[in-house]
Amino acid sequence: MDDCIVIGGGPAGLTSALYLARFLRSVTVFDAQEGRAGTIPKTHNVAPFPDGISGSDLLDRMRRHARQYGARLENATVSAVARQGDIFHVTTKDEMRTARTVIFATGVVNHRPPLSDAEHDFGLNRGLIRYCPICDAFEIRNKRIAVLGSGDHGLAEAEFIAPYSKSVTLIPPDGTVAVARRGIEGLPSAMSTMTLSESEAIVTLKSGERRAFDSLYVALGTTPRTALATGLGLHLGDRGCLNVDSRQKTLIPGVYAIGDVTDGLDQIAVAMGQAAVAATAIHNDLRGLVR
Ligand SMILES: Cc1cc2nc3c(=O)[nH]c(=O)nc-3n(C[C@H](O)[C@H](O)[C@H](O)COP(=O)(O)OP(=O)(O)OC[C@H]3O[C@@H](n4cnc5c(N)ncnc54)[C@H](O)[C@@H]3O)c2cc1C
Repeated sequence: MDDCIVIGGGPAGLTSALYLARFLRSVTVFDAQEGRAGTIPKTHNVAPFPDGISGSDLLDRMRRHARQYGARLENATVSAVARQGDIFHVTTKDEMRTARTVIFATGVVNHRPPLSDAEHDFGLNRGLIRYCPICDAFEIRNKRIAVLGSGDHGLAEAEFIAPYSKSVTLIPPDGTVAVARRGIEGLPSAMSTMTLSESEAIVTLKSGERRAFDSLYVALGTTPRTALATGLGLHLGDRGCLNVDSRQKTLIPGVYAIGDVTDGLDQIAVAMGQAAVAATAIHNDLRGLVR
């Protein structure tokens, strides 16, 4: 039996595994390797990498780091988590493992624009499609920037970006009308189609108008990966995330949640910080138990 099973091997899950391994705790990470961190072409706001680092390189280093201290990392999707007394049973296609504690580090799924997977990846890698202005608005200062989004969320994202460029355009994905305000152009017609060239994201509106941008931020929201947690009996917060206390504990004793799947700032630095807090809480909670 493990002291802890971590579900999800992104920045959150891998950092918790590193800490737990260094606390001499037995820890297994199951990771489906379909996370957001792995899609980052190059991040420039992770502190120890002044020249930037790709998400896949960052994850490779984090996996090596956690393994070095004895964490067990498995490339597998967890299909079920069940509790029997104080013990958790975690099931994948190939095995069933037990643990005293479980960490959900399952992340969220971005809602995507209407592009094929190949077009989407092409756009992401060239910086034509972006998801996170907190992460990379700095890199596209003074470019022609579009935000595909509606309601308060779309407007808030456009307002966040406005100081970075004089050309920020809010495009409604649906029947709503984007309103111009505070240096943001609001398009009066919803998007009909989107295409990508080598250097532009080109949006055709339902009115027939065609507009080209250097970068387009997708502000269509996310879906937290919470099915396993709700299956265990956890309730979701207002934004569909897992609720935790200041030590990353959920309402079920022995169950913790960290990273994007919790409600907060979806950033690598935050995911890592929450992981350190959760791992230390687990280590302290399990203190006295013989390994
Ligand atoms: C394009 C893009 C660029 C970004 N750029 C930056 C940036 O520059 N700086 C920054 O700080 N943040 C950035 N972010 C945000 C950052 O990626 C996330 O905040 C971070 O990845 C959160 O880490 P996480 O471990 O919570 O989730 P994730 O990285 O999403 O990892 C979750 C993992 O859990 C796994 N998983 C889920 N369910 C299961 C299951 N049932 N069984 C097994 N495994 C499972 C997934 O496959 C995945 O590997 C960016 C996001 C995107 C989309």
